[in-house]
Amino acid sequence: MVSTTMETLAIRTENKFRTLVTKRAYKMGEVICDIPSENIMDKPSRFTVQVARDKHTHVGKLAALNHSCDPNVILDTENMSMVACKDIAKGEELYFFYPSTEWEMNAPFICLCGASNCIHVVAGARFLPLSTLEHHYLNPHIRDLMIELLHGTKQNLEKLKVE
Ligand SMILES: [Zn+2]
Repeated sequence: MVSTTMETLAIRTENKFRTLVTKRAYKMGEVICDIPSENIMDKPSRFTVQVARDKHTHVGKLAALNHSCDPNVILDTENMSMVACKDIAKGEELYFFYPSTEWEMNAPFICLCGASNCIHVVAGARFLPLSTLEHHYLNPHIRDLMIELLHGTKQNLEKLKVE
C-alpha cells in the first residue's frame, strides 16, 4: 500500500539547510508517497511544486526536497506521486530535478550538485534548451508549455522572414 502520510521520510536540518532523507530503502519505480494537493495556489513559492499551468501545490514535508541534475526521485504530477527513479538506500537524501515540474521559478539558484550533466543555473524549464530537457523526466504541463514556447519562436522567425 502507498503511504500518503510520508512517515518514511525525515527532514534533516544542518546550518539552516534542510534535506529530505528516507528512513527505508526503495527500489527503482517504487512509489514513495503521494504529493499533497489540498492546498493549491496560483503562484510558486519555496514551499510549492507546480502541478499544472497555473497550479502550485503546497507540498508540506516535500518542500525539503533539494534539486539535483542527477536525481533519485521524480514528482509525477499526473498521478500526484513521488516515485524512486533509482534504487535508494535507507538514510539517503532524496532529490528531484526542479525543472521537471517548474516552468519559471521565483527563486532561481546556482546548482553545485557536481553531476557531469549539471545545468548550473536552476531557474525553471523555460530557461533550458530542449537538448538538456529531453534527457529528463518531464511532466505534461512542462511539455505543453515548451511546445507553446517553441511554436511562438517559430512564428516569430517566420514573421522576420516576411519583413
Ligand atoms: Zn546540478
